[in-house]
Amino acid sequence: MVSRERLEQQLQHLQTITTPGAGEGINRLAFTESDEEGRRYITSLMEEAGLSIRQDAFGNVIGHLAGRDESLPAVMFGSHSDSVPSGGNFDGIVGILAAVEVVRSMKEDGFVPDCPLEVVLFRCEESGRFGTATLGSRAMRGELTTADLMRFKDKDGISLYDALESCGLDPAHIETAKYTRPLKAFFEVHIEQGKVLEHRKIPLGVVTGIAAPTRMRVYIHGNADHSGATPMPLRHDGACAAAEIILAVEKAAAARKEPPVVGTVGIVRVHPCAMNVIPGEVELGIDIRSISAEAKASTVADVKLAVEEICARRDIPVTIEDISNGTPVVMEEPVVKFLDAMCEKAGVPYIEMPSGAGHDTMHWVGYVPAGMLFIPCKDGISHNPAESAELDDIVRVTRALSEAVRTVSAKAFSF
Ligand SMILES: [Zn+2]
Repeated sequence: MVSRERLEQQLQHLQTITTPGAGEGINRLAFTESDEEGRRYITSLMEEAGLSIRQDAFGNVIGHLAGRDESLPAVMFGSHSDSVPSGGNFDGIVGILAAVEVVRSMKEDGFVPDCPLEVVLFRCEESGRFGTATLGSRAMRGELTTADLMRFKDKDGISLYDALESCGLDPAHIETAKYTRPLKAFFEVHIEQGKVLEHRKIPLGVVTGIAAPTRMRVYIHGNADHSGATPMPLRHDGACAAAEIILAVEKAAAARKEPPVVGTVGIVRVHPCAMNVIPGEVELGIDIRSISAEAKASTVADVKLAVEEICARRDIPVTIEDISNGTPVVMEEPVVKFLDAMCEKAGVPYIEMPSGAGHDTMHWVGYVPAGMLFIPCKDGISHNPAESAELDDIVRVTRALSEAVRTVSAKAFSF
């Protein structure tokens, strides 16, 4: 039986693993010592649950439980344990702890699955460090090259390649991280990171689709002149151009109502950032999302046009760097209906809903029948020290995941 006590105790323990002095909340940025510590703890839980552990070239941890028939395709489930700067203790954590508990409770109950199970702890899901998300899944799907690893850099100029190497991994052979075994199903449990479930007082959400971000960096090459000696008409103020661009992103996204699009400028870096110097170089980080690929693409096009127009009008050179362009995914109908049935079997009320946030699962849709379950988080707050979820909801979703894994792992089952 799923153990509430174990889940509670493990959540409490993970609450203590964070970078000392890094600020409020949880700071387990990918490839830092605190991230490693969190991963070691979770790996130890996976071992206790009877999983045999392997790690790929990107550092994704995969725990294998043998089925009655090892020649059958495996059922994979899991999530991530890295955090954003000053994040919470539930994003990713709920999913990986639920996955481990499913295996542990299954063993205690004497349940042996027909097909093998693979519990996966993804590495570097958050984009907080390298500006691009779900890197562990992308490595497992064969979507990362060594050139990508060198191109992605953190704010200190450390490349993903170097970060992998400093953890004793093998970035030169990233292609070996590609997951090639046949899979029967993939599941991930996660907090909603929005307010829908809490608002409707429903403990579970079955995800129907996942919005994917398009991300770009905009480098505005203004002139850093003297703030006292340069008259207004002679200025090429990078921050003023940036201000117009930020509002243009808001306007372009807000203009699209159905399907909705959201646009955010979450990075603004002004150089040299001095009171007596006109801002010269300004860097913006832009994130645009929708569950409709078409609506997102046309918003991105509008934003790029606005950037060019604003900078041309101000006579300021500008460079737009495309960072990523994820494709929104739609879950397969039979998987959604199956998870609906598993919620019913576990006796938990649910609704079907789209996900506004990106998740590892989106990389597995198309490769394998893949599904996601959401639980509410308090006030919809996530990526924040105030992030919180109810233990009751975590126990419920673990039960639903357990039903799903046990049912799918039967040899006779097919979607
Ligand atoms: Zn997450």
